[in-house]
This record gives sequence, C-alpha cells and structure tokens, in this order.
Amino acid sequence: MGKPTGFMEFERKLPTDRKPLDRIKDFEEFHTHFDTDELMKQGARCMNCAAPFCHIGSVETGGCPLGNLIPEFNDLIYRGKYKQAYERLIKTNNFPEFTGRVCPALCEGSCTLGMNEQPVTVKNIEVHIIDKMFEEGLVKPRMPKKQTSKRVAVIGSGPSGLACADTLNQMGHKVTVFERSDRLGGLLMYGIPNMKLDKKVVLRRIKLLEREGIEFITDADVGKNYPISKVINEYDAIVLCCGATNPRDLNVEGRNLKGIYFAVDFLKSSTKSLLDSGLSDRNYISAKDKDVIIIGGGDTGTDCVATSIRHGAKSVVQLEIMPEPPKNRNTDNPWPTWPKIKRTDYGQEEAAEVFGHDPREYLTTVTKLEGDEMGNISKVHTVNVKWENKDGKFIYTPVLGTEKVRDCGLLLIAMGFTGPEDTIIKQLSLDTDLRGNVKTEYGKYETNIKGVFAAGDMRRGQSLVVWAINEGRQAAIACDKFLS
Ligand SMILES: Cc1cc2nc3c(=O)[nH]c(=O)nc-3n(C[C@H](O)[C@H](O)[C@H](O)COP(=O)(O)OP(=O)(O)OC[C@H]3O[C@@H](n4cnc5c(N)ncnc54)[C@H](O)[C@@H]3O)c2cc1C
Ligand code: SF4
Repeated sequence: MGKPTGFMEFERKLPTDRKPLDRIKDFEEFHTHFDTDELMKQGARCMNCAAPFCHIGSVETGGCPLGNLIPEFNDLIYRGKYKQAYERLIKTNNFPEFTGRVCPALCEGSCTLGMNEQPVTVKNIEVHIIDKMFEEGLVKPRMPKKQTSKRVAVIGSGPSGLACADTLNQMGHKVTVFERSDRLGGLLMYGIPNMKLDKKVVLRRIKLLEREGIEFITDADVGKNYPISKVINEYDAIVLCCGATNPRDLNVEGRNLKGIYFAVDFLKSSTKSLLDSGLSDRNYISAKDKDVIIIGGGDTGTDCVATSIRHGAKSVVQLEIMPEPPKNRNTDNPWPTWPKIKRTDYGQEEAAEVFGHDPREYLTTVTKLEGDEMGNISKVHTVNVKWENKDGKFIYTPVLGTEKVRDCGLLLIAMGFTGPEDTIIKQLSLDTDLRGNVKTEYGKYETNIKGVFAAGDMRRGQSLVVWAINEGRQAAIACDKFLS
C-alpha cells in the first residue's frame, strides 16, 4: 500500500489544461503533465482498499474493462518506481497512451475513495507513466519469443484490431492488418480529434508494432477492392474488427439539403486535411463563419463543437433530446456503478469562453430543415420535448409553444451509430444479433463461421476505446486457441 494516510493528506489534483482561448488557436493537445512530486502525492491517495472495484471491470459494477492493476501501479508511483509501474500497466493494457488520453475513466467512477471523497486520478497517472517511458526511450519493440507457422488476417485497424494484432503477434503468429482507409488507427486516427489524441501518438505505436513484425496494408477495403476470398485462401484465421460505422440518420423534411453532414465525416475531413497539409489544402468541411448546429449531446457532438470553434464558427449550438443529467448521482445510480451525471467537457468549456454560454440545449429535437434558393441549409426548426413513461416505455412528445426557427449554415448529425456495415457480413453469411452486430456466443469471439472471429464495436456495438482494446485482446486469445 502507498501512504496509509495519503487520502486524508492530499486532495485530488489534475494538471492544469491549456486555457480555452489559447488552445482553440490550434489543434494541439490541451492536457498537460504534472511534475513527479505531485504525481507521487496523487498515487499516495490510493487507499489499497480491500475490494478495489476500480480494476474489476464489469458493465454492472463499473471499473476498468481491461482489469488494469490500478492499486499496484498507484503504489509504485507513490514510491517513484516508474519502470515497475510501467511493467504492471502493460500486463493488461496494450496501449495506455490511448486510454490515458481518451478513456472516460470508468475506474474512477468506482474508486472506493469516490464514495465520499474525490476519486484517485487513475487516468492521469496512467498516461503519465506511459508518456514518461516513451520520453525516456524505455518503450522498446518487444520481439515475439516464438514463431508459429500460422497466418492471421485482422480486418480493421482501430483499437480492437491493433490490440488483437499486437496480442496475436506476441503469441508468435504472423499477422497482417488490412485497413480500407489511407491511414491506420480507425477512430483513433479519423474520429477522435487531434487535440484529444495527437496523431503522432497513434503513429508512434503503429511504427512500434511494425518493427515487432506486424504487416499493415492500407487502402484495402476487404469485400470491395480486396476480395474476401483472397483473405480466406491466404490466412489460417480472420478477426473482423471493422467497427460500427453506420451512422444513425435524421429523418425530417429537408434532410437532402446541402450543408448537412454526419459528425464522423466532418471530423475525418478536418483531421485528414490537418495531417495532409496543416489545413492549407482547404479540403475539409469547414465551419468557418457558419452558424453550426450539432444534433447529439454526446462525446462525438462535443468533438464537433471543439472542431467547429477551431475552424472559426460564428455560433455553435449542441442539441440533445434527453433531459439534462443531474449534478450528483441519483439514488438508483449508486457507487460503484458509473455516475450518470452532467459533465462539462473541453468543447463546452471552449464554447462558454468564446460565446459566453454552454452550447448544450436539452430536451430539444429537430422537426424540419429549410434551405435557401441554392439548396443550402439555412434554418433548423426545433421544439422542446417532454418524456413520459407510457406502459413501461419512455416516449417523448413535443411541448406546444416551444417551437423555434434557428439560423444554420452547417448541420452536423452526431446521433450515434446503428451498427456495422453489412458487406463482409453478407459475403461470409455471418449471424448478427438483434442490433445488427456480428453475433458470437456470449463471452466468446468466434462467429458462426469456423476460424472467423469478431471484436470491438463490430461485435458489441458503438462503445469505447478501452472496451475495444479488451475485445481485441480476448478475440486474440480465442483465435490462438483455435489455431493451436
Ligand atoms: C467522433 C468519435 C469520438 C470518440 N471519442 C471517444 C473517446 O474520447 N473515448 C473513447 O473511449 N471512445 C471514443 N469513441 C468511441 C471509440 O472510438 C470506438 O468505440 C472505438 O474506436 C472502436 O474501436 P474498433 O476497433 O472496434 O473500431 P474502429 O475504431 O471504428 O475501427 C474500425 C476500422 O475498420 C476499418 N474497416 C471497416 N471495414 C473495413 C473493411 N471492409 N476492410 C478494411 N478495413 C475496414 C475502418 O476503416 C476503421 O479504420 C469515439 C467515437 C467517435 C465516433
Ligand atoms: S483504461 Fe480507462 S478505466 Fe482502465 S485504468 Fe485507464 S482510465 Fe481507468
């Protein structure tokens, strides 16, 4: 255990982010790091409680889905033993530099200290450990200790595909990752914006994986420009990690107007142009001088808020059909479950500084879209709603008299995803579940086709990076069993 009285002596502290008005001038990361002394104090706050829910990781009780050995690395950080902390961290997490940046920190929601105090800053400690190890050159290629004669194709290079490829490669199998995009990383590359996860961090990891022996093939859209039959013939097993990329659409009058985009298309175009040319090629969907309306109050919507502000939007509004979450846990949402409370993220902080108010408007839906004479979107009609429980089903009804017509030059749809695309699913005749995700037996990763596995969002539906990494690791174990 760290310092027995640490949690009474030291308050939770996080490093100060770059100031909103400063960071919106660029797309650089906005989080900073502590010095070592402060991090040791934060590690000392871990009580090493008898039942550390933080590392259990279940949908019911919360905690880290990877089973990260949190009390152990907290203690090692308190004692200044970074290298040992790093060794603990990579036992369970292939890519702490990703989760340490973008994970919502499910672990902190179930930290025992969080019952009546502020939880331990686990996520910040995690990213600090891995970044320091990279800075000091201690993250070296780990060459597999054995080689089997088996070849595995991993389709999709998001966090699940990368974690699966890494794990299988370390087990000695020859792994090829196929990616349809021009760059690797899935939503780590072309979803989550650079200010949350610098793409140099993604590339650094991919270079390491390449040096460890994984082969990557980009611009290979399996099932379209790269036949699935070729993959079947050339590999002993296939792991599908294609994500849940079908966006949920908005079905209202005027949907076919110009200037309406899915959030991921908007975010991808911005990051691609940023990486290709520092945005100078102008080859992206721009929010400059536009009244931007974003439908969806979740994290993707927030990324659109922050990106629009960096483009120089005239105004930004984020509409959410659900009610505003409470400030504190409700009684039906007790510790150690994930706290469903209102959080103000970086995009909202920035909008408040730039426009003077939080961009989110709750209990609001879109009823109609209007265009100008050129067919471009110009107005969005909205109405407030109320939710009612009718025979056990929650349904919403419009509140008369709350109708509004808002100026809009760019409408971004961030309403989530309906599931994976069906090209490969149809070509391989894969079973799907009720939500259209690839079906595998509960707790297993093999599909109804022998030797074909599925992991990540494609199997569990749109989720989180940490769950995708967990799925990739588990699918690799299942695939290895099959191969052996
Ligand atoms: C905008 C946005 C922001 C997000 N922010 C966060 C966040 O901050 N924190 C967090 O934890 N989660 C976040 N998420 C969710 C998280 O990114 C996903 O849950 C995670 O990336 C899923 O990983 P995956 O590997 O299953 O799929 P993906 O990351 O979607 O990767 C799938 C890959 O497969 C490729 N592919 C698909 N079909 C084929 C094919 N036929 N042939 C070859 N390649 C193919 C795709 O091009 C893609 O690269 C965010 C999601 C979005 C959309
Ligand atoms: S991966 Fe997420 S849940 Fe797990 S320890 Fe890190 S921040 Fe916490």
